[in-house]
Amino acid sequence: MSRSKWKGCRYENASTSRHGLMVCNVCSQSIDEGDYRCRETEEAYITQHRACSQDDPQWAVLDRQRANHAARQERLAEAATAFIEYWGVVDLSEYAAAPAKDPRP
Ligand SMILES: [Zn+2]
Repeated sequence: MSRSKWKGCRYENASTSRHGLMVCNVCSQSIDEGDYRCRETEEAYITQHRACSQDDPQWAVLDRQRANHAARQERLAEAATAFIEYWGVVDLSEYAAAPAKDPRP
């Protein structure tokens, strides 16, 4: 199958997202866990295991994005912990220069 057909497809994880029959059209096995890619045709969702679509360079991009996000979360958690320990403040909203408005009436 040509790569252009998969341009703009979705990259999902079976634990959080399911599309169509969840059967890989490369190996014909069900997609029960892990990453998979998915594209929609007029007839059906076409899905493939990550392991069955390793030639797709977008997987490496996704891995980098996930690693960057995890590293950011780790730095944020360290900074937040240090801030709370130093200032003894958990809720910053009352100290913010422009406190968020409560959207409720
Ligand atoms: Zn497969």
